[in-house]
Amino acid sequence: MKLNELTIAEARKRLDAGDLTSTELTKACIAEIKNQNPTLNAFIEVYEDDALEQALRSDERHSRSECLGALDGVPLGLKDNLLNQGKEVTSGSNILKGHISAYDATAVRKLKGQGAVILGRTNMDEFAMGSSTEHSAYGPTKNPHDLERVPGGSSGGSAVAVAAKMALGALGSDTGGSIRQPAALCGTVGLKPTYGRISRSGLMAMASSLDQIGPFAKTAEDAALILEALQGPDSLDQTTSNHPLFVPEWKKDLSGVRIGLPRQAWGAGMHDEVRSEVMRGVEALKERGAEIKEVDLPYADEALAVYYVVMPCEVSANLARFDGMRYGLRVKDLPLFETYAKSRAKGFGPEARRRILLGTYALSRGYYDAYYLQAKRVQTLIRKAYEQAFTEVDMLVTPTAPNPAFRLGEKTTDPLTMYLEDVFTVGVNVAGLPAVSVPCGKADGMPVGMQLIGRHFDEAGILAAARIFEESD
Ligand code: GLN
Repeated sequence: MKLNELTIAEARKRLDAGDLTSTELTKACIAEIKNQNPTLNAFIEVYEDDALEQALRSDERHSRSECLGALDGVPLGLKDNLLNQGKEVTSGSNILKGHISAYDATAVRKLKGQGAVILGRTNMDEFAMGSSTEHSAYGPTKNPHDLERVPGGSSGGSAVAVAAKMALGALGSDTGGSIRQPAALCGTVGLKPTYGRISRSGLMAMASSLDQIGPFAKTAEDAALILEALQGPDSLDQTTSNHPLFVPEWKKDLSGVRIGLPRQAWGAGMHDEVRSEVMRGVEALKERGAEIKEVDLPYADEALAVYYVVMPCEVSANLARFDGMRYGLRVKDLPLFETYAKSRAKGFGPEARRRILLGTYALSRGYYDAYYLQAKRVQTLIRKAYEQAFTEVDMLVTPTAPNPAFRLGEKTTDPLTMYLEDVFTVGVNVAGLPAVSVPCGKADGMPVGMQLIGRHFDEAGILAAARIFEESD
């Protein structure tokens, strides 16, 4: 087994025992990046010298019997929307090419504080808008299971970095599924924590009321290790919660755990093999002691509509700051208003422009009540529907995505079919809940993901179930 194929938990044991160094581990990841990245385009920048330097520091700490935490010496990738002081970070956009981070995102600062090795930044859909990583200023990322297919998105680069064993783990962001869906399409674990669990300070905002940072990993156990490193209240993000911190609660079996199958979600259209594989996954959970029952989850269909109103409204507000004046690309020698207009027209790709226009329209006078306010009302109904379901069951199961990875170019000309790929993931963000995608068989020869959705702050419950499923699969 190659070193880069180790899980974080396995690597930790060997690092602690002294039969592996962080330098060896980091070199193995860098070798794999050199080998595969020219084809896969998962990393858009690799910090080889810095990574080896950080690995050396970790090895020196080990020789002094110091360890900063579970991630000390562990090589990870960062999505290109997480600020990393002194490094270029662009959210996959031309408008920010050349933009150097002035400070570290809180999540990045925490990783560094634990001695993690940062391998580089990973490719993404521009400003995290997309489900395929095709809307990137750096070209598309390829799915390692079939180079003709997309890895999902928007955190496709991070998913592929882990799936192709170029990194032991990676960070992504999830506003409507951008961690879980690419994890599903690439065959990795992807966790979207509860809104407020991890600070968003230094995450380039897409839709601030929905965005959340989270891990990609090979296993649920590894995802838990990364979550533990990142979580907690932060004075730089007032939406972080003081709720008790996540502590893993691994279980022997699922006896006493009630798992709900939302009728409305399972009634939706999906690929036949996705349905049968995830049903098989549900059977496996049942064999391990879970009680399975159908539950009602009204407004499951409306979640997509709510998301595609609320999200572009927030996008239009958040992306207003990119005006050619303060950051990145500027079209020069024009009067002020034309500088704004031309810089934005040149710097943003078509999908970002579409969403800025839609959001601006939905917030404009006369339409605000009909669109934004109405969507916010339905958002409340969706939250209540989940609360009601969680009085009957402890967690919910759906497929993560309705289809396995589609072909590159297949959905770029028809945004609505692309948006439909988010049908099972967006409701979780709209309600602020935690959810994990765990690999669950194959459809059309490609990986399938099973999504476990938990109560607010019950990452321990869904990760424990995911781990039991991994053991039984
Ligand atoms: N695919 C969704 C979208 O395009 C989700 C994006 C995300 O979670 N950042 O909006």
